[in-house]
Amino acid sequence: MATIGFIGLGNMGGGMAANLAKAGHAVHAFDLSADAVARAQDAGCTPAASAREAVAQAKIVVTMLPAGRHVRAVYEADVFGAAPDGALLIDCSTIDGASAIAVASAATDRGYLMVDAPVSGGIAAANAGTLTFMVGGAADAFAAAEPILAAMGKAVIHAGAVGAGQAAKICNNMLLGATMVATCEAFLLAEKLGLDLATFYAISSQASGQSWSMTSYCPVPGVGPETPADRGYEGGFASALMLKDLKLAIEAAQGADASVPMGATAGALYQALANAGDGGRDFSAMIRFLDGKAGR
Ligand code: NAD
Repeated sequence: MATIGFIGLGNMGGGMAANLAKAGHAVHAFDLSADAVARAQDAGCTPAASAREAVAQAKIVVTMLPAGRHVRAVYEADVFGAAPDGALLIDCSTIDGASAIAVASAATDRGYLMVDAPVSGGIAAANAGTLTFMVGGAADAFAAAEPILAAMGKAVIHAGAVGAGQAAKICNNMLLGATMVATCEAFLLAEKLGLDLATFYAISSQASGQSWSMTSYCPVPGVGPETPADRGYEGGFASALMLKDLKLAIEAAQGADASVPMGATAGALYQALANAGDGGRDFSAMIRFLDGKAGR
């Protein structure tokens, strides 16, 4: 079992750190939020007073932070030089490919192994240890990261060289953003056409309109499995983070000369939702926006 420094104990990182502790690892956990650190302690982690303290004895460092600027800042200020020589660094955040490549290159220059290992699955999967990891990095770094990631997930897939994990993640989330918008508008139309929404769910979840957005993350309260819709769209995957991912995908598409009209439309709608004041709500709150209820 390894000594692990874990930084970023939010909606996703909290459950992930808990699963590493449950698997028997010694997890030294830090977040800027004292409440998040206290929850990690309740889940079997050792609380750290700073990020530097969390990584000081770590053979492995895991980070789960909001965006590229947080990842760059934490590695530059708190991990490089503080984590022991030769440590394996695993960034599970969803960030832009350029930041992922820059941080990994700086890590390699300092003698660390590093992978980008963004996740799919949402908080339910983070808590249950059933995430899907898409990993970018050299073969030896992937081999070292795989058993650690397996304690938090159901699938760990080597996507390619450093940055390939982030590339896979933004393509996946562009698809997710577009299917969530489509799922929301289908439910709103079904309602206007007089259909019972549970009945429409029973039909479409077993028909060709089925998607993860419908069957694992239904945007309608009281329909399908329990989701953030049942908690007033609180918690979950913030719309602002979905907007971040869509912007990353659109920017990458421009750089690669790829046509992404559905992704661009989803991006414009999530921007409008955020402008309406709902960026802090779960991304399934798109249904409220399309129904003219955002910001209320
Ligand atoms: P979150 O905002 O709930 O958690 C981020 C945590 O990082 C917060 O607790 C914050 O206090 C902490 N933090 C920020 N800066 C810090 C610093 N300098 N030092 C220590 N802690 C710091 O976000 P989340 O929903 O857990 O998402 C984290 C990442 O995972 C994002 O990149 C997101 O895009 C990605 N992601 C989220 C989901 C989801 O369903 N929520 C799913 C897949 C991927």
